[in-house]
Amino acid sequence: MSIEVGEHNLDLAEYRQGLRRMLADRNDTLDRWRRHYATVEETVAEHAQLVRLLHDSGWSRYGWPESVGGVGGDERHRAMLYDELAAAGLPIPEQYLPLETLGPAMLHFAPEAAAELLPAYLRGDEWWGQGFSEPEAGSDLASLRCRAVREGDEYVVTGQKIWTSHGATARRLMCLVRTGTPDSRHRGLSMLLIDTDTPGVLVRPLALASGRNELAEVFFDGVKVPAGRLIGGEGQGWAVAMYLLQWERSMFAWQCSATILRVLRTLRDDLAGSSAMPADAAARLARSYIDVVKLRARTVQTITRLAAGEAVGPEVSVDKILLAGADQGAFDTVRDLSESYFTLGQGMGSQRSDWWYSRSATILGGSAEVQRGILADRVLNLPKD
Ligand SMILES: Cc1cc2nc3c(=O)[nH]c(=O)nc-3n(C[C@H](O)[C@H](O)[C@H](O)COP(=O)(O)OP(=O)(O)OC[C@H]3O[C@@H](n4cnc5c(N)ncnc54)[C@H](O)[C@@H]3O)c2cc1C
Repeated sequence: MSIEVGEHNLDLAEYRQGLRRMLADRNDTLDRWRRHYATVEETVAEHAQLVRLLHDSGWSRYGWPESVGGVGGDERHRAMLYDELAAAGLPIPEQYLPLETLGPAMLHFAPEAAAELLPAYLRGDEWWGQGFSEPEAGSDLASLRCRAVREGDEYVVTGQKIWTSHGATARRLMCLVRTGTPDSRHRGLSMLLIDTDTPGVLVRPLALASGRNELAEVFFDGVKVPAGRLIGGEGQGWAVAMYLLQWERSMFAWQCSATILRVLRTLRDDLAGSSAMPADAAARLARSYIDVVKLRARTVQTITRLAAGEAVGPEVSVDKILLAGADQGAFDTVRDLSESYFTLGQGMGSQRSDWWYSRSATILGGSAEVQRGILADRVLNLPKD
């Protein structure tokens, strides 16, 4: 089933029905993506094939403009894609998580580079990571030190990034670097898209407690980056980072909520067929379900606003806080209600590694404490003490 640009119908209900039909028609061939892969490297390689299928059948091109190989539409089409994948018992490909954060920023701040580079991402040929955090700069991002010095048509980058999701396999990294003076804080930052195969880039995978290389640390030693890879102007890096956070705190939450619903549905079905259903199973499932519904009720509003071209402000921290609670609560429910599988069962590696990963939900993308601080200061205008 292929589509041609110009022949597409952007009606949301028809999009959902068509996508659902395609997934149902191919149900048997999709089974290869319904299993757990032992390593992150295998996971992303397999997911790239799913990205390719969704691209070639046309369905993942909705929500992206024609300039980058899409067929038009907006965030709502992308959100529907994630929902329908989860409803079909499929994973949301790993590649789509950073795409939702980095793609909108590329489109907005570097449309020419986006037209050149994003089509390969949408096809599943490559994927990228986000290099913001450093060993001494996480919550206080404006203190970062990774330095980029302009020399002719290039920037020369020296420094380190850490906790880079997908860093171990990413083809490119969108990096926040210092182009101003050391004490210039957020005013002296710029955003560069750096190819990980450039001489001087060293990537070291970092394993989480699950044993999986979910993250990486990345070292830059005099790395030459063409000035054309500047996303936004020099000194505009903070604006790019703030712009991109609107998607990182909302569309990422939406993607996670779709996955949580899939996991809860699977658990419910497993328990329904089990002779030893724990007494509090229904109540635990219901609580987790309500937490996800709360998250989605909030996030659907944010995504609708983004789709309408509105700028979302510090209130998007609400989405992030709700996500952390729903994510950790749901995977605790899975752990408690399927305990024998969790600790001993074969093929349950996914539950274990997902539970470990959910522990980071209050840290990644800005810690829960920092989000609450943003809401207190900038939304509620509470007094400092
Ligand atoms: C799984 C995972 C994936 C990640 N992926 C990426 C990625 O792809 N790219 C990337 O750049 N980074 C990534 N990160 C890094 C993440 O953004 C940082 O870990 C996070 O911003 C916190 O920074 P930090 O670890 O330096 O902790 P710190 O900033 O040192 O914070 C330590 C503790 O102090 C608290 N704290 C700090 N400041 C305040 C404050 N003002 N008020 C109240 N409490 C405060 C924090 O809440 C935390 O509990 C990832 C992290 C994880 C765990």
